[in-house]
Amino acid sequence: MERSVYFDGWHKGNFCQHPSLPMRSLHMLDDLERLGATMLVWAGLGGGSISLPFLHHEAFGPVDPRQGMYGYMNDSDFIRECNKRGIKLFSIVFEVQGWEFPAVIDRLTGKIKYINKLAEGHEEQGWYGLREFSQDKYPDAFPTSLKDYYPGGIINSEGEVVGDLFEEAAARKLDGSPVHAQWVEVKNHRQICYQTCRNNPVWRDYLKKIISLMVDAGVPGIQLDEAELPLTAIGSGGCFCKDCMKQFTAWLVERRARGLLGAAWDGIDVASFNYQDHLLANQHTFPQGAPFIRDYWEFQVRAVKKYFGELADHARAYGREKHQREVLVSGNFFNLMPCYFPIVPKVDVIITEMEHTQFRQPYFYRYCEGFAQGRDVVVAENPYGGIVPDLVRMLDEGRGHDLYRIFLLEAAMYGCNMSVPYGGWMGNTIRDAFWPPLHLSAQVQGFLKRNERLYPKGSRGDACVLYSYLSYYWRETATGAGGANAMQQFTNLADITSSGWDGDKRRTPFWEVLKALTDSQVIFDVCMMPDGELREDDFTLAQIQDYPLVILPDCDQLTSRQQDILLRFAQGGGKVLAHGRLAEGSDLVSRLEATGRLTRTQDADHFEVAMARFAAGMRQLMKPLRSVKVSDPRLGVHRFTSKEATSIHLMNYDYDAAADQVRPSLNVQLTCRARGRVQVHSLEGQDLGFRTEQTDEGLRVTLERVPVYAVVEIRHPE
Ligand SMILES: [Zn+2]
Repeated sequence: MERSVYFDGWHKGNFCQHPSLPMRSLHMLDDLERLGATMLVWAGLGGGSISLPFLHHEAFGPVDPRQGMYGYMNDSDFIRECNKRGIKLFSIVFEVQGWEFPAVIDRLTGKIKYINKLAEGHEEQGWYGLREFSQDKYPDAFPTSLKDYYPGGIINSEGEVVGDLFEEAAARKLDGSPVHAQWVEVKNHRQICYQTCRNNPVWRDYLKKIISLMVDAGVPGIQLDEAELPLTAIGSGGCFCKDCMKQFTAWLVERRARGLLGAAWDGIDVASFNYQDHLLANQHTFPQGAPFIRDYWEFQVRAVKKYFGELADHARAYGREKHQREVLVSGNFFNLMPCYFPIVPKVDVIITEMEHTQFRQPYFYRYCEGFAQGRDVVVAENPYGGIVPDLVRMLDEGRGHDLYRIFLLEAAMYGCNMSVPYGGWMGNTIRDAFWPPLHLSAQVQGFLKRNERLYPKGSRGDACVLYSYLSYYWRETATGAGGANAMQQFTNLADITSSGWDGDKRRTPFWEVLKALTDSQVIFDVCMMPDGELREDDFTLAQIQDYPLVILPDCDQLTSRQQDILLRFAQGGGKVLAHGRLAEGSDLVSRLEATGRLTRTQDADHFEVAMARFAAGMRQLMKPLRSVKVSDPRLGVHRFTSKEATSIHLMNYDYDAAADQVRPSLNVQLTCRARGRVQVHSLEGQDLGFRTEQTDEGLRVTLERVPVYAVVEIRHPE
């Protein structure tokens, strides 16, 4: 299991200033060792979005002696120290960010005298960023300059010399104006960040130069942030840059040749079609109400797959050719939106920044674990729309310790890893960074490190939920994506009955089913079924045949291969629970019915009705299948099984706000089928009294009390 640290290192009490991260120092290495860190995310070398010489300076530049007094060092020195300690630093490529900062340049030396805050409003204020770099305006600002990276100049896809990289690379709105990366521009300041477009070969080439420089600086891994660009820009009205328009037209021509364009395209000469001109001529808005939006999205998802892959390949090839070593690749798969599924095979580890961070979201972690298909999953919190600002305030005041423990442990217990915030990002309006008390983080991370055997990979749950990519990828995209739908709730930790599904828009049966399962303490896995186009349909019977039950949440579309596999699964004795539609337009339902193994529950327009139907059918089917039963229905439950042991993890969410701690659950009975010697582990190492007995149902362990978190480990007999 990776033990990750969200290593922004932004300053406490100050604004988080993208893209250049604060300097790293020796004392941070001590902290990282104390945290048992194996991997650092958002961890260094972010300045390439300002200029390549700026990035070179971050990597190799001299350190001011005053900084040296305190052990500060440049990033390549810091990376070397991490490597010595077995800590993998993933440098961050802010792929979608292009920056311009207020700057004052010293007239005599040509070096930067002030930048950003001190330069802002200065009587000699100019600018420094991608534009000045590409114009070689300040060749003496840093030891390297344009000619070191582009000896022949920068040339764009029209064959023209690029005189302004900042404008050239920008993602564009329908009216041609640039799209801002408004989430990183610190409010009420002059700095400017445009979203950039990776479909522009100039920007891709520039990103490759960033990656090469990072590998030169010794990083073991590269993290491609905003991995979905330029889909990032859609919500803000982009991207209509020249390269997106050219490539969309080419894609339409190819689709028509293959007979894959819908009837809406009949009578349109796609070879001369320009999406931007078409929308403008017909006075359409974008994205709301725009025609062909799905085609445009389908095109962009394929572009993401192609160009993310190109950058990942570059990182690996450069590492092998120039440095004879393997470079790890990851991205930011924000909230694990469906658009990232096609690029999963391109990464070694999944890093996902949540859309909203809440206290109780086991369904999200179970989904992440399935989405990753055997890779480690590292999760980073997000300050927007969730608990983080409140939690930060509570921790600052010496409160919320149990809540913070839940926040860190829940991900691990359900098969992922929550990155420990270390100066974590607090957005562009809050003047602060997330620095939780180190001793609390060290307590949890120490437990995870000492007890890694309690979280084995490849463990099998009591049921398998199948995610049909074909059925869901557009549905989830069009309704606002992914686990976010389910995450709107649970601000009230104690209340597991509260529903966040008000309104039809939030109806996503897959997420409802997952949540119903976790509420019912069902131990399950998620398995992804690809669509056959964006991802090759490599779904096999072997992936599900050892489960007694598979659950299909409103899978209205399945490939014929998937239908055959499900039929064989049922013919082999497996049970199938289908909620809502199933492979519409096929005869799968009748063929499954013929096996006598199919249970169907009807979907409904209203969440409550649909879920009551599902829950009734599911509980009936699960009765003989549950490997673990727990007497307190409010506890979160998950089980891992390896050859040596079964470990049953219990999370207690019963937070008492007045006492600012979790109330222990008393006399908890846990019954399970495993046999062996029992040990009970608690986070703080305190002895949790328990007794065991053998019953008709299996081994029963009665715990005197369950604090915030406990693990019952049953060592199997030799
Ligand atoms: Zn574009």
